[in-house]
Formats: sequence, structure tokens, C-alpha cells
Amino acid sequence: MKILLLGSGGREHALAWKIAQSPKCGKLFIAPGNAGTAAVGENVSLGVDDFEAQKDFVVSHDVDMVVVGPEDPLVKGVYDAFKADARTKGVPVMGPSKAGAQLEGSKDFAKGFMKRHHIPTAAYETFDGTTVEEGCRFLETLKAPYVLKADGLAAGKGVLIVPTLEEAKKELREMLGGMFGVASAKVVIEEFLSGIECSVFVLTDGKHYQILPEAKDYKRIGEHDTGLNTGGMGSVSPVPFATKEWMKKVEDRIIRPTVEGLAAEGLDYKGFIFFGLINVGGDPMVIEYNCRMGDPETETVMPRLKSDIVDLFEGVVHGDLDRRKVVFDEREAVCVMLVSGGYPQGYRKGFPIRNIDKVGPESIVFHSGTAIRDGQVVTNGGRVICVTSYGKDKAEALRKSMLGAETIDFEGKYYRRDIGQDL
Ligand code: ATP
Repeated sequence: MKILLLGSGGREHALAWKIAQSPKCGKLFIAPGNAGTAAVGENVSLGVDDFEAQKDFVVSHDVDMVVVGPEDPLVKGVYDAFKADARTKGVPVMGPSKAGAQLEGSKDFAKGFMKRHHIPTAAYETFDGTTVEEGCRFLETLKAPYVLKADGLAAGKGVLIVPTLEEAKKELREMLGGMFGVASAKVVIEEFLSGIECSVFVLTDGKHYQILPEAKDYKRIGEHDTGLNTGGMGSVSPVPFATKEWMKKVEDRIIRPTVEGLAAEGLDYKGFIFFGLINVGGDPMVIEYNCRMGDPETETVMPRLKSDIVDLFEGVVHGDLDRRKVVFDEREAVCVMLVSGGYPQGYRKGFPIRNIDKVGPESIVFHSGTAIRDGQVVTNGGRVICVTSYGKDKAEALRKSMLGAETIDFEGKYYRRDIGQDL
């Protein structure tokens, strides 16, 4: 089978690494990919949002399946674009339709969906430019801190957690005044929830689902979760509080109602669902949905998935996902992200990356922001490269990832040494 994977980050390298191991995959293309994906497949220079060019490529190269890594093309309707074209409508796209992707693309839609299907989440109200004063009055009914969310996609920056009522009102006015452009034309205000977060991933064919290994990511730049938010500085899988009992609550109260709710509302959804959960006094609640895998969670989830992922994708296509087998690797996995100096603020690109090949055999190196220039792998983003290792526990896995992180070298390299140590 020929597969085209869209995307260029660490998530896509981890997906590509896993897909390439499948005996069912004869040829893997990654568009546009990075220096790491070039080692497991063939990079092709197509934009992730350029659906016309992607369809032409699929037709000219007899591609049998498209797997979508990032949210942007899904929210913009890549699934629908392939379905609407007579040449490509028979080519399965792993990912939801534009309507299904609203679970991530509109926080107001996601909250309304959860309300309709009685899925546990924080209490909320949504406001727009005509209801600013109502929004301020709603804030007065809540306790600090205040959570304000831009409705649309804002590159992970659209959520503000504000300590005082006065600031919350000011931020609400600014958000509705266009702080995040059209993404904040509507703002969701919700109750603050306190607890530890955990990401649960599911693959669904629209009717059945399979639960993949869960993970936890570390968003802040500094150790002990300090400093600015980033795209993610590392991840671990499994998560200790995600016991069998807790996961049963997640399945009964959240996963099943979500998959059934999508079907009941006629939303075409064949792909990954990412449940951003928070453990509130032993009960899981939904913080957010994403319509794709997480990054850097994929970099620990894929290594812990023993099953053939292409077989699972075939289950999605044939609608018999319930009959496919999902087997987890019992070992623990820890991923440590190496970032460019200055990230998440200004940083420079183009520095040579050395010693990738000297990382030990018990670790896997996934590229995030890398490129090849004149035959040399160079930095090409804020999050550059990550090291995932297995261990009998998190301490052992972290130790191995630390060794890898020390071995790989580039100017300005920075990484956290405490990934998973709070659990
Ligand atoms: P990202 O794309 O970075 O995952 P996002 O912009 O889609 O995030 P959310 O995941 O909804 O937004 O929120 C970002 C973070 O804010 C969450 O991971 C969580 O730590 C915090 N957060 C969001 N909602 C709440 C809440 N109701 N109570 C407490 N913390 C919250």
C-alpha cells in the first residue's frame, strides 16, 4: 500500500516511523516532512494546506491512503476536499471531516457538544462582540482564577488563565476586540478546574473505537513547570493515575458518549480523537478535544503501541476497528525535547546538529524542526529534535533520554531534565 502522511513535526516523524514498520506499507511519502522523516520514507514538497496539489500527487502516484498529522488541514476540510473530487473520493483520509474537526476548531462547538451528550467538562458560557457586558457579569459569578478561551484555532496561544476579576474583564474586552483575529470573535469563559492533566487517544471508524496508550505532556519551558508555555518539552507514557478503574470512567463517561454523539449528530469522523483530560478528585473531566494526535505525546504513544498501525487504519476504512487488536508495550517511555536557545521567544535556525547517530540503541530520535542543507542536518524550528527511551520505570527511561539529549549537539541546545519526575 502507498501512504501519504501530511505534516512536518515530531508527531509526523513518530507516525512515519510507526507506519514504515508495517509490512502492509509498501511506500511512504511525507509532505513536507523533515530530515528525520526522510530516513523512513520519501519527503515530497507539498504544503499541508495545499489540497489541490495533494490530490494531484495522490492521483499521479497511485496513493492508497492519506494520513493527516496536524489540525490545520483537518479544520480547513482536507477530508471533504478529497471526498468532493471524483479522482480521489475513493482514497481514505485518516482524519475527520471539516464538520467533525469542529471538536477542535471551535471551542464553543466542543463545549456545546459535551453539554448535549452529558460529557463531564467545566461549566461555561460563550460571548461575542454584542454580549461583552453579559460576559463581564458572568465572570462575576465565577471564582478566581478565570479561564478565557478564544473560540477558534490560535496556535496554542488562545487560552488565558487570569488571576483577578479586573484583569479577566480587561482580557475579555481585548479578546473580543480582535486580540486573536477571527479566532477570538467568540470567547468561551469557563470554570477553572484543578487537577493533573492526562491525554487519552482514540482511533475511531465512526462507530467503533480503540484506545491507544495514554500520555502526559510538559508544556512549560522551565523545570518544575515554570516559565512560558511551549508546544511541549517532553512527554511520558503511561500515566500512573490512569489506572484501569480511572480509564473505565474515561471510557464510560467520555469516550463512548463522544463517539456515539458524533454518529448521532451525523458528523463524519474517521481518525484520531485526542481527549485532553483533567483528573478532578478521581473523576476525569474534558479540558479540550483535538482532532489529531498530540505533539510530543505521539513520540511516546507510538513507541508504546505494539500493534501494526496500518492494520488499525484499515480497520477504520472497513468499519471493523473493533475486530483489530491493540497491544501496548508494557515498558514505560519518556520523551525529552531539545529546543533552540531563546525558544519559545526569538531563536535562530540553521545550526548543524551533530552526533544524532551516536545516541544509544535503546533510544529513538524523532526530528521536530530539522532540515537538510548541503547534506548536513540543521536546526529548522524552535522544537528541534527529541529523544524517546524505554525503561522499566520512568526514572530509567529518563536516564537514557538524558544521555541521548547530552549526546546530540547543536548551538543553543536546551532541554528539561525533569520530564516525568513529578508523577
Ligand atoms: P493546546 O493547543 O496548547 O493544547 P488550546 O489552546 O487548544 O491548547 P486548551 O487545551 O483548552 O487550549 O487549554 C490550554 C491549557 O489551559 C490546558 O492544557 C490547561 O492546562 C489549561 N486549561 C484550560 N482550561 C482549563 C480549565 N477549565 N481549568 C484549568 N485549566 C485549564
